[in-house]
Amino acid sequence: MRISARTETSPLTFKDFQEAVSWLLRGGYRLRLRPDGVVEVWHSLPGERPVTQEVLDALTPFYREFKRRLTKPRGWPKGVELPPWWADMALGFKITRARASECPGCGFLVAVLVDFHFWNEWRCPQCGRMAEPSVANVTARG
Ligand SMILES: [Zn+2]
Repeated sequence: MRISARTETSPLTFKDFQEAVSWLLRGGYRLRLRPDGVVEVWHSLPGERPVTQEVLDALTPFYREFKRRLTKPRGWPKGVELPPWWADMALGFKITRARASECPGCGFLVAVLVDFHFWNEWRCPQCGRMAEPSVANVTARG
C-alpha cells in the first residue's frame, strides 16, 4: 500500500459549474465583478488562503457563467450597489430579475426574484429575507 497526497499530485478540476460553486463557497472564497469587467476571486475566512494560479485555472472554464451571474440582474435600480456578499447569492441561486423594494428587515432598497424551479420568491439580496409570499412557477410546472 502506498500513501499519496492526492491534492498535490492531481490538479484541481471541477466537473461542472455547480461543483465549482460549492467548492468556492465551502472554502470561503468570494467573487466580485469589477467595473472593468474582470471577475476577482479572494479568500474571506480567517487563515487566509492564497488564490493560486491552480485555483484560477480550474475556474477559467466557468468564467462566462460567473460573469453573467455576478452582473446586476435586469431591473436593478440605478444608483444602488450590489450587497457585499452578492456572490454567495448570485452563484448559489438562479436570479432572474430585480426591482426597487425596501426590505423590512435590513432596509436594503432592492428585492431580487429567485427561481427555485417550481416556484419563485422575491428576496432581499442582502439579508435573504423573503419580500412577499412565494409564487408558483407556472411555466416550470407545465
Ligand atoms: Zn434585507
